[in-house]
Amino acid sequence: MEYSKEIDKKWQEKWKKENLYKYDPNAKGEKFYTMEMFSYPSGAKLHLGHWFNFGPSDSFARLKKMQGYNVFHPMGFDAFGLPAENYAIKTGIHPEDSTLKNIETMKKQLDEMGGSYDWEYSVETCMPNYYKWTQWIFTKLYEAGLAYKKEAPVNWCDSCKTVLANEQVINGQCERCGTTVERKKLAQWFFKITDYAEELLEDLNTLDWPESTKKVQVNWIRKIRRNRSNF
Ligand SMILES: [Zn+2]
Repeated sequence: MEYSKEIDKKWQEKWKKENLYKYDPNAKGEKFYTMEMFSYPSGAKLHLGHWFNFGPSDSFARLKKMQGYNVFHPMGFDAFGLPAENYAIKTGIHPEDSTLKNIETMKKQLDEMGGSYDWEYSVETCMPNYYKWTQWIFTKLYEAGLAYKKEAPVNWCDSCKTVLANEQVINGQCERCGTTVERKKLAQWFFKITDYAEELLEDLNTLDWPESTKKVQVNWIRKIRRNRSNF
């Protein structure tokens, strides 16, 4: 059978009409929560790589639904930060206009791919009803002495105008744009996550994760513990 957009359209309209992806917390069936990393609406559209990421978890959410679980499968957009700002500079469009427009386009694209999302639970990190909580968490960490400001050397990409994590520097170059990364001293905020290194290491044993994933976590936590003096 030849692939036809009409088939997609017919079934998607039916699913929409029947509210198939509506999540009801009180519905019967054991609750099952699945979520993937949100998209960054810093580009105008999604690309195939997005569905490469979302497709498997969408299939998994459907499988769980068919097995009788009450599936909660939300989607959102990680809309703050430098990529959105860079996009605004490049296009000359205000970041609020471009970000919200990109989100609308991406939601439409995800629907066209047949994603099983309930948009009522969509989270957009640039909206006040979301970022009031990130601000709240920061305030709590600050009050507890777990957030502090200090001058420290950073990896700086002069093209992206941003600080890069060590993991984002590949052979001395910015992983995003390939510009040679400079070392620069900047005043920055830190979280004292090293205070929790032992607890994190211990509790990894209680998690039902693949051994290879646990090993990555152990290596990473040991590394930050070793570099404690730098934090
Ligand atoms: Zn860069």
